[in-house]
Amino acid sequence: MRIDLHTHSRVSDGTDSPRELVGAAKRAGLDVVALTDHDTAGGWDEAVEAAYDEGVELVRGMEISTRHDGRGVHLLAYLPDPTYPPLVEELQRVLDGRDLRLPAMLARLNELGIEISAPDVAAVSGDAAASGRPHVADALVRLGVVADREEAFERYLSAGRSAYVDRYAAPLVPLLRIVSEAGGVAVIAHPWGRSRRERPDESDLAALKSAGLAGVEVDHQDHAPEARERLLAIARNLGLVVTGSSDYHGTGKVDHDLGVNSTAPDQYARLLELAAAASAASGRTTPEVIRP
Ligand code: AMP
Ligand code: ZN
Ligand code: FE
Ligand code: FE
Repeated sequence: MRIDLHTHSRVSDGTDSPRELVGAAKRAGLDVVALTDHDTAGGWDEAVEAAYDEGVELVRGMEISTRHDGRGVHLLAYLPDPTYPPLVEELQRVLDGRDLRLPAMLARLNELGIEISAPDVAAVSGDAAASGRPHVADALVRLGVVADREEAFERYLSAGRSAYVDRYAAPLVPLLRIVSEAGGVAVIAHPWGRSRRERPDESDLAALKSAGLAGVEVDHQDHAPEARERLLAIARNLGLVVTGSSDYHGTGKVDHDLGVNSTAPDQYARLLELAAAASAASGRTTPEVIRP
């Protein structure tokens, strides 16, 4: 069983439509794929149709931009009721935060002498729920300012660079509660990823587990082999579910091909058990795993 629990479509900052993504998952030999666009369930319906057509097991999820102890944390939420009002509200705040930040980023770029305007970004972010930094990066590529997203982040868009502007992110601990109340399960994405100034250590993760965290993503391209080993030991110690994923973004991220990392079947089974328990406890109508 090949299981990839973290991917992005054009509904956030990937480059495939949800249907194309599910087709690509099939061709990559995956048995299970989770669609986890940033802060939106907007791609779910199209992915469900494609999962039936392609015969791929589909988990509906999202990757939510949160903040904890002053640092950004990406939280994967699997199988929550996407209509639960507090969840809807938080997602909208993050999406609005992304859109509201855009003019300030463009103004910074204009000050640097780069002629880029809102329509240039709109031209590349067509299906997306909000225009984020990757869309600004794509617009800069189209304008010939940089060669690729990587260069755009390195020169202008990463934290501390000249066109970086902060935006709203949902407070992590209250959001863990909201995900549980929505009947979903939460897994921290790439907790020791490259852009982390401070990594959550074992006691941080223990506290987050008490606050409702179900698992941690260990096998991710942003984790070096030693980091994976240490994180795995901590996860085992704390009884957290261990996942792995590609964090596929289509052509938007190199070295993130579908299935490049994967989740072990026993860990996937545990995650689904926790999701079933959360769903039952919440009393909400939660999405089922699609098994064509
Ligand atoms: P935003 O949430 O709009 O601030 O954009 C952040 C997103 O940009 C992240 O979720 C990543 O998917 C993407 N990203 C961050 N750094 C890079 C990079 N160096 N190259 C390509 N994409 C990146
Ligand atoms: Zn992304
Ligand atoms: Fe992420
Ligand atoms: Fe991601």
